[in-house]
Amino acid sequence: MPDHLTIVDHPLVQHKLTLMRETTTPSNTFRQLLREISQLLAFEVTRDLPTTTRRIETPLCEMQAPVLVGRKPALVSILRAGNGLLDGMLDVLPSARVGFVGLYRDEETLEPVQYYLKLPNHLEDRTVIVVDPMIATGHSSAAAVDLLKAQGAKNIRFVCLLAAPEGIAHMREKHADVEIITAALDDHLNDRGYIVPGLGDAGDRIFGTK
Ligand code: URA
Repeated sequence: MPDHLTIVDHPLVQHKLTLMRETTTPSNTFRQLLREISQLLAFEVTRDLPTTTRRIETPLCEMQAPVLVGRKPALVSILRAGNGLLDGMLDVLPSARVGFVGLYRDEETLEPVQYYLKLPNHLEDRTVIVVDPMIATGHSSAAAVDLLKAQGAKNIRFVCLLAAPEGIAHMREKHADVEIITAALDDHLNDRGYIVPGLGDAGDRIFGTK
């Protein structure tokens, strides 16, 4: 397994993911499961956040106790499906700053084009956590990371639910410095760009659209 890829094989994550994959799981359950998995993925992606210690007083004595240090992390959602991961992430990281990247695919060039960008300031000093449930071809993921790097971000991680080997290879080629945290690495992309076995269109399943 490439070392910039972490597959979170925790039984709770895997169980919830199985429920999400099932066709019969309705949108409200899908959203709730995504929120719960996001909390668990947030735990993994923040594992190495910098800490310092502070002198505190417990009811029994004084001690040096660990606290987070530095600017608040930034969560960056790739619209629209990335928003499905935000609530769970914010449950665990309530003071994170939040940004949004909107990309669509140009029908002729097939390249991602930016239509929306709103980011927190001082990205260069923050741990930047990009969220999107699916890394399929990896083209929009890589384009989002391009935008963040152009805005100064240096320490970037990517959290998704499912990744395809093709997308991981593309991200590795374009952004080998970005660690990817996923709940599963699936088998392949089909000829319509869907991850197989996958869970279908993540945006549609989150928002109940077709
Ligand atoms: N985006 C999705 O929502 N689903 C896929 O399978 C691939 C990309």
